[in-house]
Amino acid sequence: MSKNIGIPGVVPPKVKPEECKDLSCPFHGKTRIRGKITQGIVVSKKSKNTVIIRRDYVQFIRKYQRYERRNTRLACHLTECLSNEIEIGDLVRVGESRKISKTKAFIVLEKITGGAV
Ligand SMILES: [Zn+2]
Repeated sequence: MSKNIGIPGVVPPKVKPEECKDLSCPFHGKTRIRGKITQGIVVSKKSKNTVIIRRDYVQFIRKYQRYERRNTRLACHLTECLSNEIEIGDLVRVGESRKISKTKAFIVLEKITGGAV
């Protein structure tokens, strides 16, 4: 059984707990999700157990009375049980956790929509 991580709407991945030995997995490991929940598009899946997501937002520029598009990138932990499911281009929901490495403090929770094929 996957643990209920206490975030409404997040469905645990359908894998057996013994298949996921990731201690940093909120569903099968010991790491808990607390703090912020956010979402972004996966832009890189190069490093092990990690994805880079891009978050787009608009910033109002008063001088020109217009919005400009900005984005930030965020490194997120990709658990073993989700690593096959998440691909580049997917929109994913991520939750804040304790620091997992120097640059990671967020964990991928679920895929919201798939990317363009
Ligand atoms: Zn897991």
